[in-house]
Parts: sequence; structure tokens; C-alpha cells
Amino acid sequence: FDLKNDTDFTILQELGQGNGGSVMKVQHVPTGTVMAKKIVLIDAKPAERKKIVLELQIMHDCDSQYIVSSYGAYLAEPNICICMEFMDKGSFDGIYKRIGAIDIRVVGKVAVAVLEGLRYLYDVHRIIHRDIKPSNILCNSSGDIKLCDFGVSGELVNSIANTFVGTSIYMSVRLSSPSPSPSYLSFPYSLASLILVCYSTLTRSLCSLPQPERIQGATYSVKSDIWSLGITLIELSVGQFPFSGSFSDSEDNDNDSDLEHDRDSDMPPPPPPKDSSPFTPSSPHSSGNGGDATPNPRDSLQIPSSAARRRRRSKGVSLHGGGMMMSIIELMHQIVNEPSPRLPQGKFGREADEFVNACLEKEVERRGTPRELFDYAWISNSRENGMDMKAWAATF
Ligand code: ATP
Ligand code: MG
Repeated sequence: FDLKNDTDFTILQELGQGNGGSVMKVQHVPTGTVMAKKIVLIDAKPAERKKIVLELQIMHDCDSQYIVSSYGAYLAEPNICICMEFMDKGSFDGIYKRIGAIDIRVVGKVAVAVLEGLRYLYDVHRIIHRDIKPSNILCNSSGDIKLCDFGVSGELVNSIANTFVGTSIYMSVRLSSPSPSPSYLSFPYSLASLILVCYSTLTRSLCSLPQPERIQGATYSVKSDIWSLGITLIELSVGQFPFSGSFSDSEDNDNDSDLEHDRDSDMPPPPPPKDSSPFTPSSPHSSGNGGDATPNPRDSLQIPSSAARRRRRSKGVSLHGGGMMMSIIELMHQIVNEPSPRLPQGKFGREADEFVNACLEKEVERRGTPRELFDYAWISNSRENGMDMKAWAATF
């Protein structure tokens, strides 16, 4: 494929909007190939942009059944376009919001695919994914499960981080010490840096939610992806993001469809919080992530698309109220100070519990590497759990 400009494509459909741009289903006219084209608007100098495109070519070299394949990337100023394999069943966030909590055997297959994908990226390309979450795990009608949006380009990661987002609240926690008091003591410092980072980015009309490792001075490692995998597995099997909080922000509840992609109106509303304290961990026992009245905390932290930002400005609405800031701080507080989320006890079996608990070990040193996690019984059993993924994918 020689992908150089937008004129070679016919837009078929918008697939979704993320923090950094939008994804379109397109047809590459010269070859007739249907692709997913991600359009990323970044604030980078021309030399940096060229470097990003060069780095993105590494995606071309990825050849794994667990990684979405790439057709190439090109500059269409001021955007960068990344063309990839179209996955016709979409991402797992869209799937669970459509069909509710996902069968634990399918969740087991997701765990296997993510571990295999992480192992491939790391062993073959020395790449850490950095953004494991349901919207970056895709499915097609053959029942394949593949990862997308991994941190292939250091320059792109930098540009995005410097400009608007570290998207992920599937972020991992690194406490500075195993003993309770130093980690307790460490929190005010990290909170102060978080506020500084948030404040500086918010006042630049941009929203950032940095990784706690960065706030707490630790580097991101492949184990951070493992934490994110644990959060993702709970979200899929319960049908709800496993952190709660008082995420009401009058500014952010104004029915902004750009912020609430894939929210289905036929899902049952989530249970009321057990406690009015914003710092109470949720009890993940219901399916469905809710209607418009009680936003999914993760959604309320989505960074608006540039279109949404423009629309808000034109409506005279200020995006950056205290609500968004409080959401971020509350969530950080929960992640750092509350026990890690768990699968509902006993519901999905001991082996699944053990695996998820191993992913959600707060101490990085004690958390498993992808290689170690392959040894868990749930993983070997999930490979052969008899789930017909093609038949499953045909049900929605
Ligand atoms: P974030 O920007 O926080 O990473 P996101 O992953 O939802 O959020 P995008 O990566 O822009 O945002 O993707 C938007 C949506 O497009 C995804 O949720 C997914 O449903 C869809 N999508 C992305 N890539 C593909 C693909 N290759 N095939 C089919 N659908 C895709
Ligand atoms: Mg994505």
C-alpha cells in the first residue's frame, strides 16, 4: 500500500471518537480495501511530525494474530493518519455497553489475547503498550481478539502527553514503600504534583490525566500494562468500571454525546453508591454501566474531542470546572489508598480471582510480568475453555 493522501479514501462511517482524534471506516479506492483510519490531531513541529510517521512504520513490522495489523501512516497536515485493519465487531467497551457483562469464558480469551499481544510487542519489538483498556481491545466476526493503539512511537507518545492526554485511568499504582505510613505520607506529595500537572494542562485548555508512575517518579513498565489488564478484566466481566466516585459535574452532564460514545439507553442504571463518600470503592455486582443520570466515571474523564471543545466554547461553556478536577483527584485517591478492585467474590471461580488479584497487586515488585502470568491456571484453562468465539461474535 502506498498511503499518501486523503483523496485515495472514501469515508464509509465514523467508528468512534477518542481523546486524540477520531476513527473512520474507510475504503482505500485504488485497492478496494476497507480499513479503519485513525486521524490524530497533534501539536508538533514539522520535524517531530515526520519522526512520528517514521516511527509509526514500526507498526508495519508487527505480525501477530493478537495485534491489529497496520497498512501505514501518512501526514495530512495538521493531522496524522494511521490506517489499520478494520475490526468489524468494534472494541470491547462498545461490546459490553451493548450486550452487558461479558461471559467469563470470553473474558478469559481476552486475558489470553492481551497477554500474548503484550508478550509479542515486548519480546519482538521492545514496545510497552501503555494504554490497555476495553476500547483498545478489538474483536472481529471471526472471533479474533487484537490489541491496537500501542505506544509504538515515542515521539507521538511525547506529543500527546505534552499536549493533551495521558488517557488512561487503567493506570497502575506504584506506592513508594510497602509499609502503610510511607505510602500514606507519599500521597500528599503525589497529590500536589497531580494538581500541578492538572492545573497547568487545564489552563492550557487541555486536559491531562498522567500516569501515577510519572507523578510518583517511577517509570512506566510492562507491569503497568498488567495492572490495566486487571482493571479491564473486571470491567468486562462485571459490565461496569470498577471505581466509583461523586463524578457529578454540572458542566460535564450536559448530554455531550462526544463525551459519551457508545452509551446505550437500554442498559439498566447502575446501583446507587453504597456510601455517599466519594472515596468508597464500588461494589461491582451489577451489569450495565448506566444511563445518562449516573455517568461511568471513566467516561466523565474522557477528554473531549476538538469538535466538542469547539462546541463547548461556542456555547460559552467552560470545560474546566472544579468537577473534572475533583473527579481526577478522587479517582487517584481511590486507586492509591483503597484496596485494589476485585472480581465479585466467588462468582467467577477461584482461578479467575487469583489471576485478577495477581494483576492488581499494587506493589510493582510483587506484580507479575506477562511471562509469569501465563503460568496461572486460569490462562491455560481459558485457552481451552471450549468457547466458540466465532459463534459468540455472531450474537451481536
Ligand atoms: P482513547 O482516545 O482514550 O484511547 P478510544 O480508544 O475510545 O479512546 P480511539 O482510539 O480514537 O479512542 O478509538 C475510537 C473508537 O474507534 C474505539 O472505541 C473503537 O470502537 C473504534 N476503533 C478503533 N480502531 C478500530 C479498528 N481498527 N477497527 C474497528 N473499530 C475501531
Ligand atoms: Mg483507542
